[in-house]
Amino acid sequence: MTPADAKKKCPHCNDTLKTLQVPPSNFSDGLGFGSELLLVCFNNECPLYVKGWNTMYDRYGQVGSMRYWLNPLDGDSGAFPVAHKEAMRGDIIED
Ligand SMILES: [Zn+2]
Repeated sequence: MTPADAKKKCPHCNDTLKTLQVPPSNFSDGLGFGSELLLVCFNNECPLYVKGWNTMYDRYGQVGSMRYWLNPLDGDSGAFPVAHKEAMRGDIIED
């Protein structure tokens, strides 16, 4: 990880992404990030996250939302589901 990676911004809200240590247990079902670190947007005002509450309910019938993630190794990005506001927060290793 380079200093430039640490300053990557979320394309949805322009907030600085936080470095997350991927918890092996959470992603053992084949999501396969191929990286132990992900840059994740933990901004609770992020449009992706705010809209996610409705999207998750409409699409999957469950209450939850999504957070933006970026894989610093290959530049891949996407959104993963979170069940609640504090989900994954304990895995942030660099604020
Ligand atoms: Zn964001």
